[in-house]
Amino acid sequence: MTERATFFDTSLLYLKGLGQLRADMLGKELNLFTFGDLIQYYPFRYDDRSRYYTISELMESMPSAQIRGRLRDWYTEGEGHKKRLVGKFTDDTGTLSLVWFQSITTIEKMLRREGEYIVYGKPQSFNGQFSIIHPEMDNLATGGGQEASFQPVYNLTEKLRRRHLDSKIIAKAVRNLLETAWPHIRETLPDELIQKYRLVGKREAVWNIHLPQNQAWLKQAQRRLKFEELFYNQLRLIKNKLLQKEEFPGQVFRDTSLMKHFYNDLLPFELTDAQQRVIKEIYADFLTGKQMNRLLQGDVGSGKTIVAFIACLMAIGNGAQACIMAPTEILADQHYNGLKPFADAMGLNLGILTGSTNRKRRVVLHDELRAGKMHILVGTHALLEDVVQYKNLGLCIIDEQHRFGVAQRAKLWNKNETVPPHILVMTATPIPRTLAMTLYGNLDVSVIDELPKGRKPIKTVHKYDKHRSEVFGFMRQQLQLGRQVYVVYPLIEESEKLDYKDLMDGHESMQRAFPRPTYEIGMLHGKMLAYEKDDEMKRFVNRETHIMVATTVIEVGVNVPNASVMVIESAERFGLSQLHQLRGRVGRGAEQSYCIMMTGYKLSSDTRTKLETMVRTNNGFEIADVDLQLRGHGDLAGTQQSGVMDLMLADLAKDGAVLMAARESVEAILQEDPELLLPQNAIIRNQVDSVRKTDNNWSRIS
Ligand code: ADP
Ligand code: MG
Repeated sequence: MTERATFFDTSLLYLKGLGQLRADMLGKELNLFTFGDLIQYYPFRYDDRSRYYTISELMESMPSAQIRGRLRDWYTEGEGHKKRLVGKFTDDTGTLSLVWFQSITTIEKMLRREGEYIVYGKPQSFNGQFSIIHPEMDNLATGGGQEASFQPVYNLTEKLRRRHLDSKIIAKAVRNLLETAWPHIRETLPDELIQKYRLVGKREAVWNIHLPQNQAWLKQAQRRLKFEELFYNQLRLIKNKLLQKEEFPGQVFRDTSLMKHFYNDLLPFELTDAQQRVIKEIYADFLTGKQMNRLLQGDVGSGKTIVAFIACLMAIGNGAQACIMAPTEILADQHYNGLKPFADAMGLNLGILTGSTNRKRRVVLHDELRAGKMHILVGTHALLEDVVQYKNLGLCIIDEQHRFGVAQRAKLWNKNETVPPHILVMTATPIPRTLAMTLYGNLDVSVIDELPKGRKPIKTVHKYDKHRSEVFGFMRQQLQLGRQVYVVYPLIEESEKLDYKDLMDGHESMQRAFPRPTYEIGMLHGKMLAYEKDDEMKRFVNRETHIMVATTVIEVGVNVPNASVMVIESAERFGLSQLHQLRGRVGRGAEQSYCIMMTGYKLSSDTRTKLETMVRTNNGFEIADVDLQLRGHGDLAGTQQSGVMDLMLADLAKDGAVLMAARESVEAILQEDPELLLPQNAIIRNQVDSVRKTDNNWSRIS
């Protein structure tokens, strides 16, 4: 073990001035056990104590303020749980009330009449006078208030706070620790990068992230540590990707004659430029002799299916088989029905396998697959079953990727024992580039960022609940034109019962407004069994029902071109990306389509941004960007099980530029020195090795 490993491994019990009791509490409450743990426990914000305000300058909009003055007097007010201690605090410009509801006796004992204090807290205006509830106070006479002007605030538990283990004590402990740790902290980035991006050194960064000398130093420290974090994050992802490429061969599909035949003689429309670009990217993968692992992102309706089909033709044209896996039976049916005419025209055998495929049919399917007589198999999870074996599976396409787990993907890999099949995952949930890089860092990413020509953009409006009769009128008008309508209610797990009631009430009020026999109303929700959902959906597809009242279960992929209106109830309760997904259920036919978002009157400013964004644009990538800004990356679908959550400092919503710089650096370095053998990269190799050796990540800082 190296000298520095020993140092950062030292138990917090040995930290000067902390003591066993507090060290134990930090371990129990925050999982902080060693010097390394504590150094890496970064503050989550900083109080700006660099500036003082006078009482006359206070405003209620201030999140906090620091005032220097004199404590004139104090007294208690009220009875029982309303009992409070009130201090009168003055400076040359006015009087301020300091108010305590808790620990009144203890606090009273500490107060000094006519003492000079610095108080800090959120000013609140009450009856024309300002007060601060539970202020932080430093007595100037006893030497308080001399600390750094930016004070770190650490995330602490209620229990710690009750035991008076507050941010100030942590900051003091960290200061002690950093003083001793200083010589042990080693640089973790190559000098070249530090110069190029003008980064501050590791020691300065670690010091200033905890105890910033001023705002400028804090910014520098954050930038440096974020860069480092993203650099090693990208290094890991890109390294894995390269390893995977090296490790897994893929079949070469060079012959394009089958695909050209389809393209020239059968394809009923022109491919968009974006579709053509993606097909070229896929073809290039097929020529490398390595397994393709590609993510295809494209907004709803951007035409991913035909790209998938063309990729299948490349595989088939070179003697391999392909499969397309969808998350639901309806979607599998839809793919099958959409592709069947093309397959027939080309003399290709296209099959479908789902939960409802009967046994007799299955036996035939299985035989045909093994004999290589079936060229493309479309289906659901049923494709993963062990009995499904191919003669030579060359390509797997996974639609609506987020519904599948990693384990299931691995099952597909094993469907060809000689060479693993190429994998193309398709998703209609666009995510911003920065997020894709991190979330799917080990996949290559293709993007269809263009809709086929002649599409009518969906008209989107926001209506308040009180305009409901107007909205009903509009629905009636569309229904009379022969169109169909979706009405969607939110479903949020925590309050499923309530939502269910909303849905039922909604269904009832729809029934009143759109009575039988003129109108038939269908209903779709998560509590229904799979076949019940399928039946309901089929009735809607066949136009037996005119209005579909549903929860978000309709979010994914089903194509009903005749549905032209999407009404979203309580739209404020949906996420932006979800609203966009729901809107994507309409606008699939030739007719003008509409999306109507209904809300109550009181809306937060974030909600307004959300609705305005929907009204302004139909572009899924633009929407994904706004969504990321609004919610931060932690909340986005799919991030929970990914490496994104390992990021402690970087915020993908805000640090896109740092991420790009880090990624470019990683790519350039690996291009020149894939094994990190050059002397100037020794520092990186050491870092990677030490992180690999220890499961906890403290070594990142050493
Ligand atoms: P998604 O990307 O949402 O899966 P689809 O593949 O279902 O979209 O395509 C939506 C519709 O657009 C389909 O009816 C498809 O045939 C049609 N389409 C795809 N590409 C084009 C194109 N280049 N020009 C015209 N129509 C297209
Ligand atoms: Mg699709």
